[in-house]
Amino acid sequence: DMPYDGRFAGDPDHVLQRVFGHDGFRGRQEEVVRHVVAGGSGLVLMPTGGGKSLCYQVPALCRPGVGVVVSPLIALMEDQVAALRQQGVAAAALHSDLPEGEARRILGDLHEGALKLLYVSPERLTLEGMLSRLDMLPIAMFAVDEAHCVSQWGHHFRPEYRGLGVLSARFPRTPRLALTATADPRTVEDIRAQLGLAEDPVFRGGFDRPNIRIEARPREQERAQLRTLLRETAGQAGAGIVYCGSRARTEQTAEWLRADGQDALAFHAGMDAGAKRDAHRRFSRGDSVIMCATIAFGMGIDRPDVRWVVHLDLPRSPESWYQEIGRAGRDGLPARALLLYGAGDIALARHRVEESPAAPEQKRIERQRLEAMVAIAEAATCRRALLLRCFGEEPPSDANGVAVPCGNCDVCLAPPSLFDGTVAAQKLLSAVLRTGRRFGVAHVVDVLRGRLTEKVAQFAHDRLPTFGVGKDLSDAAWRGVARQLVAHGALDVAVENHGELVPTEAARPILRGEQKIMLRAEIARPTGPQRSDRV
Ligand code: ADP
Ligand code: ZN
Repeated sequence: DMPYDGRFAGDPDHVLQRVFGHDGFRGRQEEVVRHVVAGGSGLVLMPTGGGKSLCYQVPALCRPGVGVVVSPLIALMEDQVAALRQQGVAAAALHSDLPEGEARRILGDLHEGALKLLYVSPERLTLEGMLSRLDMLPIAMFAVDEAHCVSQWGHHFRPEYRGLGVLSARFPRTPRLALTATADPRTVEDIRAQLGLAEDPVFRGGFDRPNIRIEARPREQERAQLRTLLRETAGQAGAGIVYCGSRARTEQTAEWLRADGQDALAFHAGMDAGAKRDAHRRFSRGDSVIMCATIAFGMGIDRPDVRWVVHLDLPRSPESWYQEIGRAGRDGLPARALLLYGAGDIALARHRVEESPAAPEQKRIERQRLEAMVAIAEAATCRRALLLRCFGEEPPSDANGVAVPCGNCDVCLAPPSLFDGTVAAQKLLSAVLRTGRRFGVAHVVDVLRGRLTEKVAQFAHDRLPTFGVGKDLSDAAWRGVARQLVAHGALDVAVENHGELVPTEAARPILRGEQKIMLRAEIARPTGPQRSDRV
């Protein structure tokens, strides 16, 4: 290894070209770098793949002393260090998995001023012994990567990150740069407060990923829907990811995909470390490999050619969804993100929020996030615009302030038609009430369509006034009405039971005709009746 000799110190452009081999900065990188080189602190919000690393690597090399980088994952640190060493930068990682001799050697190098970048785990950095070592050394800057881990509002809270608040008090003259891909406003404020960055600027990068086509559809027949996507993307080199809501579903999905002849594997937090490593390795090398994973699969995916990401279940927030679909198309080539969801998902997620032991304030936030996600899934306007707004980014708009269609989401490509669904909603809600709120959507649809099934006969539901009043709509359309009523909050699904439909308070004004309700005409209308309790 050729240690970085500091020849270009001080000049970001030189460092960028000579050390990293790039022609120019991207987006807001240059602004951030100049700010930090001049001694400033701040928070960088850039999406995954946005180029956050250079925001601290370049200033660390431009300023005297060592750049100290806090990172939550050993694998991530090791990757970065290996890449830096290849570029001739003296870098090392200090964490708990290191043999003692190795740790001692790194600390020796640190004291001799032989390191330009030191990656360190948060718990290691905040040890008193480590802090007092750093007190004696010239520090170029501190970088806190994955800074959202400091916030309890997020899903990635790490208690070890809380201790990092000490840095601002202990090293008040050293620049501190926090970096994250999570731009949810509350998390952002929390990071700034926790890390003492409240007075420092926030650099918000371009969150739009125009090369990713985003689509959301009701989950009618998930296997057929996934097969369609696979057909449409066949022939393109690269990998795919199927995010599943449970561990069992990752295994089941991988299994049927394999039976289809696909190279599919599963990944979830319940697997042992060896199996996880193996899955990571197979994913990073496979030609057209498909990873069926829970959200545990994420950090450290470095394949630039993930061609598509599918969600089989509703993500819990726009932030999670964005982060997960952002793993597609990092090479800038066209990629796809498909979300499949059902009313059951919405109801289940709502129940989980309500029943979680979280504090009321936290619950309120979780609720808002979930509802924002539901709104995107059910959107009749550009999904990209809705998503970007969740990150505080205003999408381009026309003179009237209406968002300009992005041209690369399903809504913009084929705008759904809306119809006055008040009567349909009334019919469905009254069928639910008249059947005694004890049945799932399949039976309710049978009643509406006037089908004399065994169950209908058994409960004499053919004698109800609502029997057969819904012959004008297809089964799929009725399920669409039910799902949209769930999304609107007028209907609940008893997910802990047998998926019975239960009207809520919000159903009353609709039933009384006091509230009009606009519904999307369902685009996918499978032929023939489909017996399913999926809403
Ligand atoms: P993030 O940490 O924000 O997810 P990275 O720092 O890993 O993103 O950067 C993503 C990719 O973009 C990397 O392959 C990196 O080399 C590349 N990249 C970043 N900045 C530039 C630049 N200015 N010019 C060319 N490539 C860049
Ligand atoms: Zn759009």
